[in-house]
This record gives sequence, structure tokens and C-alpha cells, in this order.
Amino acid sequence: MTVVGEQLQPTLFERSRPGRGGDKIPHPPKDALDRIPAAARRVTPPALPELNEPEVVRHYTNLSQLNYAIDTGFYPLGSCTMKFNPKLNEWAARLPGFASLHPLAPDSVAQGTLQLLWELEGILAEVSGMKAVSLQPAAGAQGELCGILMIRAYHRSRGDTERDEVLVPDSSHGTNPATASMAGFKTITIPSAADGGVDVEAFEAALGPRTAAVMITNPSTLGLFEQRIGHLLEHVHAAGALAYMDGANLNAILGRFKPGEAGFDVMHFNVHKTFSTPHGGGGPGAGPVGVGETLLPFLPSPRVLRADDGTFRLEVVGERPTSIGRLRSFVGNTGVLVRAYAYLRAHGGTGLKQVSDDAVLAANYLRKRVGEAYDIPFDRACKHEFVASAAGIKKRTGVRTLDIAKRLIDHGYHPPTIYFPLTVEEGMLIEPTETESVETLDAFADALIAIAAECESDPELVKSAPHDAPVGRLDEATAARQPNLRWRPMAGAEMPCPD
Ligand SMILES: *Cc1c(COP(=O)(O)O)cnc(C)c1O
Repeated sequence: MTVVGEQLQPTLFERSRPGRGGDKIPHPPKDALDRIPAAARRVTPPALPELNEPEVVRHYTNLSQLNYAIDTGFYPLGSCTMKFNPKLNEWAARLPGFASLHPLAPDSVAQGTLQLLWELEGILAEVSGMKAVSLQPAAGAQGELCGILMIRAYHRSRGDTERDEVLVPDSSHGTNPATASMAGFKTITIPSAADGGVDVEAFEAALGPRTAAVMITNPSTLGLFEQRIGHLLEHVHAAGALAYMDGANLNAILGRFKPGEAGFDVMHFNVHKTFSTPHGGGGPGAGPVGVGETLLPFLPSPRVLRADDGTFRLEVVGERPTSIGRLRSFVGNTGVLVRAYAYLRAHGGTGLKQVSDDAVLAANYLRKRVGEAYDIPFDRACKHEFVASAAGIKKRTGVRTLDIAKRLIDHGYHPPTIYFPLTVEEGMLIEPTETESVETLDAFADALIAIAAECESDPELVKSAPHDAPVGRLDEATAARQPNLRWRPMAGAEMPCPD
């Protein structure tokens, strides 16, 4: 790793000095130690760094400033949608009635949370055109697994045991084939047509008595609406298979396209992509699943039930024998679901449609601007995101998309998603979202266009970027193969702190 700036600081352990910091417990009882049984007392002091309070505060605050964040800059990452989260939803999730509720609290003292979950299921069913929703899966990937396990249970329940294949387009997210194989199916990859949609001929040829399910992302990971969706789903059902929709890109179609009404049998929502929740840091998220009539009996347990007297309760174990069972602890990641509820209620039906319309408008505007300097492989109206490519730039100058992404850091931006989907050469997947102003979109487009000019005039400058970041180009192969993820104490004379 090349450290090019001064901003990377020593660790707290390296800053530690024996005796610094002092006693933090005010007025401990004189016999405090005697009250702890001898067998439970430490023999040696813990190897904690010793610093005064301002040093600790400055250390963490300075580290936080090295992080690129949506609160300080534009975030063009594709296939992710939710980047700016309304602060109001953070407030809602922190309300003590939700945040402090014990997950094992009896139903009688959890009525408010159960009601919120029940109502959220209803809103998501309305948004998607599905019959019912389970909030349990912890993420989109687990929602997929849940959906495919339900499809497996459906075929088995009919004694249809020959279906061992799942069809997945080649532009799909890696979690789709991973899900199919975790559920015991063979993945059949379907190529894309020239327009970016599913190749209908290949799709129909692959469908047959062995097809258990097809998994379709709509809009696709290329940001394109699957225009032949009605036709594809008719063929799926005619073949006796069921249709799964990967709903990661739902942001683009709210109030305009309901997967349940279009004929999908099951889908997942990425609540942390579409309906608030900070997306960075790898979680937690939530991946509720919605089902149509066919898969209703197989929904995971426990469901949230509403009695005739208006009270709520969780299904008890074994109450619904057709269920595929439990996927995770308790009822899901509740804090994430509270944010989703707040977001959905704040926007309402017409507000959600406006979200999608604005997201699509912003993406198409940016697509046109970025197209001034980059290849746009599918030059038709996109949904909430679009793919640009540096294939032409690479051919002329040798500069790759990875280099351009790194150079964006010098221009003050977080890079977009790169080399995904895998089907586009030197691709960048750019998703601005509905929350950004036209001035922000223009400034980002100007930066990308300026970098395209740098590729022609000074390719080495771009290839060796970033130049202004605290850390230069990483050796990604070594980082992946031999990750060094923890601090280890220094030895001997190097060691400034007691062990
Ligand atoms: C993000 C994503 C997933 C996986 O969802 P997680 O919530 O990250 O598990 C699946 N498919 C697509 C298209 C995605 O963008």
C-alpha cells in the first residue's frame, strides 16, 4: 500500500503512553475489588491503550473524515439505489418503543411493533401487487433463498420432483445463481439479446419440464426495463415453472409496474435499497418476500397475525405445517423495517410514483451528459441507472475503467459501480437517484468528461490515480488473498504500551 498523504494516523495503541488517561470511574466504593470473587478477577491488566479523552475523540473524528459519505458528497454507485436516507427515518427507528423492545417480549407488550410490521406487510403487498409479504429475510440474498425454497416446496407438494433447473439471465446479480445452487438447483444461464433484454429464443429453448423457476431482475442490472416480460412469463407458466422477480431495482418502477399483477409468483424487496436505511458498511438490511396465491401456504414462519378484536400476535411454531419454516431469528431486522415504514408512509402512493419518475429522469439526464465522452452500450431510455463504458477510451489510450474510477477520487467523487454487470466491457453502472439536484448531476458529469480528456492528454496521470487520497492504489490481489484485517501488538523496543 502506498501512503501518499499525511492523513493516515498512528493507531490508538501506538499513541498510548503508560499512565495516561487516568481513572474514569468516579468515587468507586472502597471495597469494589473485594466484591468481585477472586476467581473472576484479572491477573494481568487488559492491554488497552492509555490516552486522554481529547486524543481519543480526535482520533475517531479524524478517521471518520477519511470516509467518503453521502452527507459530504454525491454517490453514483449503481445497483444500490438508497444512498441518501431521510434523517426523519433515523429518528423513527431510534424511538425507544421500537429500539429498546426485547426480541423475546411477549406479544401483549409488543403490540405497537407488531402492528407496524403487519401494516408494512400490507403496504409492500400493495406496492408490488402481491397477495402477502413476509418481512423475515435479512437481506435481498436471503429473500431470494426464501423464494426459491418456497418454489421448491410448491413443486414437491404437487409430487413434481423432476424439476431441478433454474434459469438466470447472464446480466443477473451473482446472488441469483448462488441462491439456485444453495437450494439444490442447477443454474442455466440465459444470454442477453443485443438490446440488453433477455434473449427470448434462448429463453424459450431452455424452458421445459425440468425448469423449476426463472429468476428475472426487472428493470435489469443494465437499468433497462424488460419489454417482453408479459411474453416471457406466459411461457414460464405454460412450462409449469414459477417466476421469481429480483426486486433490487424497484426504485425505478414504483406506482408504474406491479410485479404481482404482471404475473410474477414471488419477489424480494431490498428494503435497504428502495425504502431507506443506510446502505454502507454492509448491513444490516432487510429482504422481505412477496408472494402470489400459489406460494401463500409456504411463506416462512412466524407470520404476524391480526385477530378479529384488532390485536396482533406472532404465529406459533407448527401452526401452519406447509410453511418452509424459519429463516432467521425473531421477525427480521426490525429497525430497518421501521425506517421502511416511515419512508413509505411519508411518501404515500403518489409520492412513491414521483420518486420513481424523478429517479428515471435524473438517470436519463446523466446518461445523455456522460454520453458526451463515453460509450453508452444500450442507447435507449434507461430506468433509474445506466451503463457507460470506457471500452473506446481503453482502445485508444490504454486507460481502463478501474483507472477512471480511481481518478474520480482525485476529482472529489466516490466512483460508480464498475465491471458490473459482467456482460459490459469496461462498464460503469451509474445511479444518481431522485434526491440529487441538476447542479450536482452536471458537476459529476463534468468531472467524468474532464477525466475522459485526461485519458487522451495524459494517460499516465489517470493510470496512477488516485494522487490526492490518503491511500494510493492498493494491491487488490494481495488484499483479497492475504487480507491483513487486525492490529497486532508490537514487540520489544517498538512497544509503547503495556501488554
Ligand atoms: C443488491 C442486489 C442483490 C442482493 O441483495 P442484498 O440485499 O445485498 O443481499 C440481488 N440482486 C440485485 C440485482 C442486487 O442489486
